[in-house]
Amino acid sequence: MAYDFMNEFEEADEIIVLGKLKSASNLVSEEGCNTCPAKYPLHYKDKRSYKEWKVAGMCQKCQDEVFKVPNRLKKAKKLGLNFND
Ligand SMILES: [Zn+2]
Repeated sequence: MAYDFMNEFEEADEIIVLGKLKSASNLVSEEGCNTCPAKYPLHYKDKRSYKEWKVAGMCQKCQDEVFKVPNRLKKAKKLGLNFND
């Protein structure tokens, strides 16, 4: 069976961003987080946060502060329900 990288990526517990990607938006900084002094590498806890970084350029900590997710939603996500789409 071929190695399914994308599937692995979907399931990733942590994503580490080493620098700005060409596919990231103009808002994303070359240096690190847009809203605090955090520099690359930036660590993301899931693909959703990583995608958000590509749009707004915030580190995980700043995203957590901006998008505070109630615990019951986190629990639902663990069960495989997805409220992000
Ligand atoms: Zn930050």
